[in-house]
Amino acid sequence: MTDRLPDTPVAQVEPANPLLATWETPFGVPPFARIKPEHFEPAFQAALAEHEAEIGRIATNPDEADFDNTVAALERSGRRLTRVAAVFYNLTGAHTNKDLEAIDRAISPMLAGHRNAVYQNAALFRRLEAVAATAKGVTSAEEAQVLDRYRKAFVRAGAGLEPAAKARLGEIAKRLALIGTEFAQNVLADESAYSLVLEGEADLAGLPDFLRDAAAQAASERGHDGRHVITLSRSSVEPFLMFSARRDLREKAFKAWIARGEAGETDNRGLIAEMVQLRAERAKLLGFPTFADFRLDDSMAKTPSAARALLDSVWKPALRRAEAERAALEARMAADGVNGPLKPWDWRYYAEQVRKAEFDLDESETKPYFQLDAIIDAAFHVAHKLFGLSFAERRDLSLYHRDVRAFDVKNAAGEVVGLFLGDYFSRASKRSGAWMSSFRTQEKFDGDVKPIIVNVMNFAKAREGEPTLLSFDDARTLFHEFGHALHGLLSDVDYPTIAGTNVARDFVEFPSQLFEHWLEQPEILKRFALNYRTGEPMPDALIARILASRTFGQGFATVEYAASALVDLDFHSVTSADTLDVAAFEKASLARIGMPEAIVMRHRPAHFTHVFAGDGYSSAYYSYLWSEVLDADGFGAFEEAGDIFDPATARRLKQFVYSAGYRQAPDAAYRAFRGRDPDPTALLRKRGLAEV
Ligand SMILES: [Zn+2]
Repeated sequence: MTDRLPDTPVAQVEPANPLLATWETPFGVPPFARIKPEHFEPAFQAALAEHEAEIGRIATNPDEADFDNTVAALERSGRRLTRVAAVFYNLTGAHTNKDLEAIDRAISPMLAGHRNAVYQNAALFRRLEAVAATAKGVTSAEEAQVLDRYRKAFVRAGAGLEPAAKARLGEIAKRLALIGTEFAQNVLADESAYSLVLEGEADLAGLPDFLRDAAAQAASERGHDGRHVITLSRSSVEPFLMFSARRDLREKAFKAWIARGEAGETDNRGLIAEMVQLRAERAKLLGFPTFADFRLDDSMAKTPSAARALLDSVWKPALRRAEAERAALEARMAADGVNGPLKPWDWRYYAEQVRKAEFDLDESETKPYFQLDAIIDAAFHVAHKLFGLSFAERRDLSLYHRDVRAFDVKNAAGEVVGLFLGDYFSRASKRSGAWMSSFRTQEKFDGDVKPIIVNVMNFAKAREGEPTLLSFDDARTLFHEFGHALHGLLSDVDYPTIAGTNVARDFVEFPSQLFEHWLEQPEILKRFALNYRTGEPMPDALIARILASRTFGQGFATVEYAASALVDLDFHSVTSADTLDVAAFEKASLARIGMPEAIVMRHRPAHFTHVFAGDGYSSAYYSYLWSEVLDADGFGAFEEAGDIFDPATARRLKQFVYSAGYRQAPDAAYRAFRGRDPDPTALLRKRGLAEV
């Protein structure tokens, strides 16, 4: 197939397309202002053809296979495709529109088919096996690792199988790509279609100023000037559920929130059934009993039973804690004159009241101290203290939305490290959640390429002229994503295949979750949590109360999360899914684990984008907890050193984790940093579940 394609430089095919031109911009930032939706399809077509031709040349090279003419050649191939895809998928996530969505549905299966054809290429696979056998041209441990990652990817795509099985895997990959795309688009459609319009003071009962302001802003963005709107973005609906004294409105908002992807044209359950079936078939073709076995074979946990064992170890203590929490909340509700039982839409509201009573803590008291800009500065400060990085905002770049900010990142020697983009505010064109992504990955085997890393959040934007205020959880999310960003920015490897966050999925949350620990340090809060009205630092007593309340509500949080992770594993542990009834399966799965009635899983299947909008966290949602074993234990290295910025510990952390990509296996990387394996009891202690 590849030899039929014209071997023509792409620039001659479509020179007017800005996606295919050379980008003479700082860091090679895409020329967003010139890129129009109609440029993507021809750019993808040209870039795909170019990559196919490159792959054909590598596979049919008459010279004996060696590292450079096979592995490094693969690393050099598909440059333009990688670049176009990075622009496209960053936009479909952070700033999409109907045109891009239509292109996504057309392109995603095509890309999946292409990827499959590359990784199933028999001649190429033979050359990789030959390099592995002779080690010809392999000059470093890193090169051996890159070769190994390629061989694994080829085997996992079915390169070693018979033609019929390969063809079926190709069909499955294309279909999965299409329905994964549709899944994400359905969730976004439900989220952007929904507005809970609040009319008058009665509807606003209990809402603090920051939430009223954000709801007014959301209303004006949606054409309801002068009113207030609650959206299904977590940063809007969650505080509403915490504060609204109107039980009927809480119920309404909550039910809409958990029903995303479950009705009418955007019902995702048929897609889930098909996806689960196709994934099971794919695993079977590749010689695994279930998709979970297949997926976890290339992870730190290695087997579904290891992942389940970890989840099970927190499940029972979390259930016991959640039951105690429920009883306390129900008592509070009764004191409020509302007779039980406590419903899911009551949980956050009464939890906030109990938290206030127990710790004298009130979200509206802490929120004025968490200004978005100050928390960004705090994250930069920690990166400076740990790794010597400095950040300077630049305003000369034209990015994909006016709210996106850009920062030059330099190291202690003043050398350029990369470009960091921050896209912080919620908008209708953005998917929900928070994530890190890249426009360009670090590498240096063929010239020094500096990364362009982006953090995307969904914070509710304050009114014009007002500072955006975060909850402590929002601030933690910012630190989390910034930890991922540092993993991308500090990457210092030769080859892009193992750069930055291209590590095992259940290890990738370690650098991000570890970074969250610094937000909780009094030294950081004292310096960056400044009252936006007075500029006063957060009082010591308030800091103490925040830190004392850290493990409050961990029964709920752990149950909510672990239920999603267990249901994810259940869906992907089926051996055949011919007649999967998604609603019944979810129900049975939750019944099996004894899910409390008053708690709804953090992500119900129909909007579980981690797992069903592509393969990101499919049967891998447990990864957060797996990585938490590492971060709970890992931060102890700084505490034991008696300095949260201990230079020697920070150096090891950078060398073996943040800069190391996938240079070595994750357990070896952790041991190199910590000097030993993680102590699993640190996780239960961190969540305050150890003594129950
Ligand atoms: Zn993460």
